[in-house]
Amino acid sequence: MKLDVNVLRYLSKDDFRVLTAVEMGMRNHEIVPAELITRIASLKHGGTYKVMKNLLKHKLLHHDSSKYDGFRLTYLGYDFLAIKTLVNRGIFTSVGRQIGVGKESDIFEVANEDGTIFAMKLHRLGRTSFRAVKSKRDYLKHRSSFNWLYLSRLAALKEYAFMKALQEHGFPVPNAVECNRHCVIMSLVQGYPLVQVKQLQNPDTVFEKIIGVIVRLAEHGLIHCDFNEFNIMIDDDEKITVIDFPQMVSVSHTNAQMYFDRDVECIFKFFRKRFNISYQENLEDSNGSDLVSDVSDRLNFSSITKVSDALDKELAASGFTKKVQADIEKFNGGDIDDESSSGDDDTEDDETGHKQHRLNTISEPAVDLNHEFFIDLQVSGEQHEVKVTQQST
Ligand code: ADP
Ligand code: MG
Repeated sequence: MKLDVNVLRYLSKDDFRVLTAVEMGMRNHEIVPAELITRIASLKHGGTYKVMKNLLKHKLLHHDSSKYDGFRLTYLGYDFLAIKTLVNRGIFTSVGRQIGVGKESDIFEVANEDGTIFAMKLHRLGRTSFRAVKSKRDYLKHRSSFNWLYLSRLAALKEYAFMKALQEHGFPVPNAVECNRHCVIMSLVQGYPLVQVKQLQNPDTVFEKIIGVIVRLAEHGLIHCDFNEFNIMIDDDEKITVIDFPQMVSVSHTNAQMYFDRDVECIFKFFRKRFNISYQENLEDSNGSDLVSDVSDRLNFSSITKVSDALDKELAASGFTKKVQADIEKFNGGDIDDESSSGDDDTEDDETGHKQHRLNTISEPAVDLNHEFFIDLQVSGEQHEVKVTQQST
């Protein structure tokens, strides 16, 4: 999806006020009636329609008049609300190039005033699977809270909370900096996803480290569930960093053992294929090397999870409560494998084929960085802080 943040600099206070009003209306309407938006925004001098037209032009809103005259936020509109909030909080001041397109996320570089670069992950839950899931699952049909906005926000919150808790326990994960709506700001990891690495100096050591992380996670009551060469970053010193946590589950999950085995198997398979290391075969071989028998000993799921030292307290501290977990599980229907990619009308037209989209070329130099592609988002003088009090509907 194109994220032209240049537009953001020209949006007025009223634009943000109306955008926020639509967001609030979406708490209980999939499509927010125009008159409700007007009421929530209650602009001093009126003119909500003109503002909505402007927001529509910039693709921040989607107009839907099939049932009544109404609007909803687009991903871009939601992006802008999160970005604006984070810029106002001083977390970053400019947005740079896109560095990753995940199955359900877009990742960009952002920079703060000092020139420190972070990674910004915008969750896009529902981009690929929500429609399919929605049509399958009854309980979603009548619950407006299960919309992509809410789900993307939960995914971001979960990712942020887990990253922070794991970081506090010394796991090799990015620093969790901040979270707002569907957006997580974290430290930028140096290096590349393991999938891009053709050769390693010490594949044994790297393998050991990775298995060590899986084991230690389980000892802390957790299974990554998407532990593979795409979600492990590695730098030139062969130091690893694990990313991507929205799908993690507890070792008490019904299918915990299966998810654990699958994570382990992914790593075995990758190392076998890419680095020609046959740990797996040796595992069954009683003459296996020390390394292999050591790995085998350590991968006994039931003995690992006996020492389970769950991170619940740390997670709750970041706002990741049992209710949030329950909501996510309801969406997943207890199955974290829903990869249906049928079309979905909960996303915008311009979002299909998002992988081809790149960040717009930047016309103006930003903060004082060597990266000329950064766009400064601080609008001099005027602060766009939006304060809207909810009105009864
Ligand atoms: P998804 O959940 O959509 O798979 P990921 O969190 O795995 O998203 O990120 C997708 C890609 O973006 C990664 O493979 C990686 O290349 C890049 N990426 C994600 N987070 C970071 C980060 N903190 N630093 C550097 N690159 C990152
Ligand atoms: Mg990933």
